[in-house]
Amino acid sequence: MHKDLSLLIELQNLDLEIDKNKEMKETLSSQIEEGHKKKARLEEDLSHKQDTLKQTKKERREKERGIEEFDLLLAKHEEEKYKVKSQEEFAVLEKEISRAEKEKVEIEDTLLDLMEKEEELTDFLPSLGIKVRQESKVLGKKEDILKADLKNVIEQSQEIEDKREKIISQLNSVLLKQYKQLQKVKDGLVVVPVKDGNCEGCNMKVSPSLIGSLRRGEEIIYCESCNRILYILNS
Ligand SMILES: [Zn+2]
Repeated sequence: MHKDLSLLIELQNLDLEIDKNKEMKETLSSQIEEGHKKKARLEEDLSHKQDTLKQTKKERREKERGIEEFDLLLAKHEEEKYKVKSQEEFAVLEKEISRAEKEKVEIEDTLLDLMEKEEELTDFLPSLGIKVRQESKVLGKKEDILKADLKNVIEQSQEIEDKREKIISQLNSVLLKQYKQLQKVKDGLVVVPVKDGNCEGCNMKVSPSLIGSLRRGEEIIYCESCNRILYILNS
């Protein structure tokens, strides 16, 4: 086989590996990022629920203080009942008492809701905390594996790049230019074998005279139909 031809085939194999590695790097990076996002979502959810519990406790204490204040107010009004001098004053006081009682009931209703919410969160949060810690740990382990894989792919890519540089330095520059141009316009391979007399790139028949030239291996042969660079296996 023509010396440049074997170099081209090697170059093409390396380019295919580079493409594969690039895809792998993208997949691994996005998997790592997905893991980060998932971990952040879990932690955010936990911290949001912890904040809600804190807020609920605070509101519950406020409502409890509110009820205490209304109790004091109502006790004060009860005492005032004995001090009023007229029916009218008494009526005003009764009205005031009834208003305060109504407000107290409203606060008590809210308090009950808050207590229920607080109880639910207090029961639920420890198990959620454990779940988040466990899942974060699993995600962390997965990330370690993905990062190690990514490191390998990057190292491998560097090795391939080094090999590629070496081949390019040995390759005829005009041929390299042709190869690169063909790479741009051809979908897939640009250096293809002839199989059963046909070009593997376009499946068209390769003329016997070209096959003869290929066998002699003295020059680079292009497919007459698709312009791809041809080679014959085991020749
Ligand atoms: Zn062809």
